[in-house]
Amino acid sequence: MKEKNKEKKGFFRRLKAGLSKTRKSIGRLFSSYDAIDDDFYEELEETMIMGDMGVRTTEEVIEELQEAVKERHIHEPSECRDLLVELIRDKMMVHESDYPFENEKTILLLIGVNGTGKTTSAGKLAAILKGQGKKVMMAAADTFRAAAVDQLEEWSKRAGVPLIKGNEGADPASVVFDAVTSTKARGIDVLICDTAGRLHNKKNLMDELGKIYRIINREAADYRVETLLVLDGTTGQNALIQAREFSEAAKIDGIILTKLDGTAKGGIVLAIKNDLKVPVKFVGVGEQIDDLQPFNPEAFARGLFDNEVKHDETNMFMPEDAKAENEENAE
Ligand code: GDP
Repeated sequence: MKEKNKEKKGFFRRLKAGLSKTRKSIGRLFSSYDAIDDDFYEELEETMIMGDMGVRTTEEVIEELQEAVKERHIHEPSECRDLLVELIRDKMMVHESDYPFENEKTILLLIGVNGTGKTTSAGKLAAILKGQGKKVMMAAADTFRAAAVDQLEEWSKRAGVPLIKGNEGADPASVVFDAVTSTKARGIDVLICDTAGRLHNKKNLMDELGKIYRIINREAADYRVETLLVLDGTTGQNALIQAREFSEAAKIDGIILTKLDGTAKGGIVLAIKNDLKVPVKFVGVGEQIDDLQPFNPEAFARGLFDNEVKHDETNMFMPEDAKAENEENAE
């Protein structure tokens, strides 16, 4: 338990560090104004756009903020900041129903451009689901690069789950067919397929995925299919463009946003959710197996906007994290 708490703490610390750029600019903004006026809103808008939140989303948030400030008769910038945290948290809310694969037999298809962290996320996700006591298997259906298959094999060993693979250049749908057959035979709960790694052209992607969906529907009708798009958080607006393009070619059920440690500004999470109405389900903050976690809207909103985190390292995220740390300190 203690180890687990430690790991969790490390996760949030890295997420916090990844969001620090935007948080610092927001902090400077709030400390330099003592009234909520037009200049304040203008500067807030600039800061949010610089933080990768996107023009459309920023404008929408500011408008909602202005309304709420008026409605609640708020005059202090600090109160306005609390309101902003609340607003962002509510916009980003994820629900238990967003993770149906935790309770139902599911075939997860991971798609995304090469280099975004698709293979790594497949491995981390396998470890999470296996940790929940599920029978998990992976399929290397991104057969374009031999190295991708080797890498996934490495991850399957790390996560301790079996892997189905085809030869280099094999038809991805044939690998999925083999994997689905084996999934049924072994009574697997969740099959994670590493699929299309190229956004070659929309039609090819649609055809490739269409073939995969048809095979699953025909061969494993009692499994639900869920498509998760993997995006690299450090690429900012580019990630948003990718998300738009992929969602034109496939029905995306959720996003895995990687690399929120280090250089990411983080605001892109908000832009993606708000623009595409697709929930960000997991975030990655590193290269280790436990560096992927379900998205936590409260942690995210505080990590971006709340200067309290500067003073209180323990209380910035969910209450249980604070509790875990207190328990640890008491030992
Ligand atoms: P793929 O080509 O989409 O399958 O991408 P990979 O899974 O091979 O990842 C590309 C690179 O990004 C690798 O060096 C990974 O270790 C790294 N990576 C993946 N996820 C994260 C993350 O959350 N944080 C950091 N810092 N690196 C990551």
